Amino acid sequence: MSRGDAAADPERAPVGPAVRRVSDWDADLLASLAATHDTPLYVTDLDRVRENVRRLARAFPDAHRMYAAKANTGQAVLRTVLDEGLPIECAAADEVRRAVEAGADPDSLQYTAVNPPDRDLDAIVDLWADHPGMRVTAGAVDTLDRLADRGFAGDLLLRVNPGEVGGPHESFAVGPDAQFGIPVPRAVETARAVREAYPFDLVGLHAHGASGMAGDLTHPDAARRLGAVAREVGGVDVVDVGGGFAVPYREDEAALDLDALARETRAALAETGVDTRLAVEPGRYVVADASLILTRVNTRKETPGPTVVGVDASLATLMRPSLLGSYHPVRNVTAPDREPDRVTVGGPVCTSTDTLCENRPIPRPERGDLLAVGIAGAYGMELANEFHSQPLPAEVAVEDGETRVVRERRTVDDLLTREHP
Ligand SMILES: *Cc1c(COP(=O)(O)O)cnc(C)c1O
Repeated sequence: MSRGDAAADPERAPVGPAVRRVSDWDADLLASLAATHDTPLYVTDLDRVRENVRRLARAFPDAHRMYAAKANTGQAVLRTVLDEGLPIECAAADEVRRAVEAGADPDSLQYTAVNPPDRDLDAIVDLWADHPGMRVTAGAVDTLDRLADRGFAGDLLLRVNPGEVGGPHESFAVGPDAQFGIPVPRAVETARAVREAYPFDLVGLHAHGASGMAGDLTHPDAARRLGAVAREVGGVDVVDVGGGFAVPYREDEAALDLDALARETRAALAETGVDTRLAVEPGRYVVADASLILTRVNTRKETPGPTVVGVDASLATLMRPSLLGSYHPVRNVTAPDREPDRVTVGGPVCTSTDTLCENRPIPRPERGDLLAVGIAGAYGMELANEFHSQPLPAEVAVEDGETRVVRERRTVDDLLTREHP
C-alpha cells in the first residue's frame, strides 16, 4: 500500500500488531544506527506511526479523529500523520505554527487554549480570520472573553471537566482537576451563556481526562457525561472525548482493545439520545511505540544492592521515569542471551533520580553494550531538555526500509551561541 492510501481506504490498510514491543526491533538495524549516528539516539519508525493512525481509523471509522501534537511535535511525525489524513490538534500557538509548517491545512486544525498567553490568542485569531474552518476549544469564561475581545466569531468547543473518572492514571499533562474545563454542574449554563452572549458558534463539547489512563471505562464515562450536557444544551454537533488511550509500557501488559473501547464509547454516547458526532484526539497512542532510545553502557559498578549500570542517556534524554516514575522496557541489544543481572540503569547526571530503571533483570550489561529503551515516542523527545549540559539527542527516522536524520544532534556550541555573559 502506498503513502496516503489508507486515508482513502482504511479498511484495506495494514494496521500491524496492537503494540510494538522493544524486543520486536531489528538488532542489526539498531546496532548500525548507533554506530553511524552515535548515542543517545532517538529512533522513530514512521511506518509504525502510520499503522497506529490506521488502527485508530478502523476502530473509530465515523468519529472525527485528530492527532494531539504535543505527544511528539517533530516535523517527520506531523508530516506522516497528515499524509495518513489525520488532522492535528494543537494546544499552543507555536504547535499550530509547526503543524502548518509540516503541511497542515489551517482550516483543519483544532486549537485548545490552555491558560493561553495573549500572544497565542493573537496569533490564533489572526490565523482563524483567514481560515474560518479552524476550531477553538476553551475551558474558562475568561478565555472566552479574551477570544471575543479579539474578534473571534468562529467554531467553538466548550471544554468541560468531566470530574473524577475511573482507572489509574498518570497525568503530568492533565488530570481531572480544576485546572482544565468547566465543571459538569456549571457546563449547561455556561454553554447557554456562550450561545446568548458571545459571537461564537458553539459546535461542540470537549473533555480530555488524563494522559495514559488505563481504566477503559473512562472514555465511555466522558461520552456519557458530555452527552448528557449536550442533550440539555441542544444543537451540539460534536462530543470530543480527548485523548488518553493507554499504551502498554510493560512487556507483559496487554495492549488496549481499541475496538472494544470505541464500541463502548459510541454506545455510551448513543444512550444519551443526542445526535452528535464523536471526536477523539489521541497523542500517545499514535506515537508511543514508534520510537525507542539507543544508549551505550559506559560503566558498571557493583554495590551491595543492584549493580549500577551507567549509560549515556539520562533524565535529560527521557524525563518520564524520574518525573513520573514511569516504566520503560530496557533491552540489551548487544547481548540478549547473557544471564540476567539485577541492575539499576542511570545516566551521567548528578541527581539521585537520574535512573531509567531500578533493580531490573536485564541480560548482564557490560561496558560498550548497546541498550534500547522502548516505548519512547510519546512525551520522550518532546520533554527532552539540556539539564547538566546534555545537548539534545539526535533523532533518526526509519521509513520504507530507509533511514534519515530528522533531528540533528545539538552540541555544546549550540548552547553557547545563545548565551551571553
Ligand atoms: C495532551 C492532550 C491530548 C493527548 O493526550 P494523550 O494522553 O497523549 O493521548 C489530547 N487532547 C488534549 C487537549 C491534550 O492536552
